[in-house]
Amino acid sequence: MKKPILSFIIPAKDEQENIIPLYEELIASVKNLNYPFEIIFVDDGSTDKTLEKLKGLKTGKRQIKIISFRGNFGKSMALQTGFDQCKGDIIFTLDADLQDNPGEIPKFLEKIESGFDLVSGWKKKRYDPWDKVLPSKIINFLARILTGVKIHDTNCGFKAYRREVVRSLNLYGDLYRFIPIFAAKQNFKVGEVVVDHRPRRFGK
Ligand code: UDP
Ligand code: MG
Repeated sequence: MKKPILSFIIPAKDEQENIIPLYEELIASVKNLNYPFEIIFVDDGSTDKTLEKLKGLKTGKRQIKIISFRGNFGKSMALQTGFDQCKGDIIFTLDADLQDNPGEIPKFLEKIESGFDLVSGWKKKRYDPWDKVLPSKIINFLARILTGVKIHDTNCGFKAYRREVVRSLNLYGDLYRFIPIFAAKQNFKVGEVVVDHRPRRFGK
């Protein structure tokens, strides 16, 4: 059987210190899998050296693609543009800030290959300031009650999707926060895996 192609979509706004270490961790995790892959960085109007770092990284590497926005269009647009341009059968999104641990990619892949259409990360132990964590807990609680979709961390940036799911999305504004709910409402099989979350070291 032909191996599926993996696409990694990484939105980045002002992440200059994180790009290179993230790439290195990602490659370390993915190379053992022996799947064909591409990495799509979406520079969302960064005003620091993110784009320069990306261009330097890309030199000579065909598996890296860079999409660069003229301004800051937001995370929904960054993800949607990545989804529109990727060629993967299984698509991952992860944040550029190193808070997600690329070492966990195999865990997501295993769950997708066991029959899930969308696997969303759950930052069970979260390293963010309380004024981020509390509103998120409330929103997730309300979303569970109102939609009946049993997801603990709908906004988690670390997710894996089958191609059909990303084809069904049309993200704008703040909609990226609710992707598992849209997918579940379209009868895609949605699951979650607990992920190791890390504090942000650089940037904000
Ligand atoms: N990001 C983006 N555009 C924005 C804001 C953020 O592409 O306007 C990226 C950011 O670089 C990071 C991810 O989206 O890779 C998540 O951002 P952040 O860490 O600020 O959000 P949180 O972890 O609180 O969800
Ligand atoms: Mg973050």
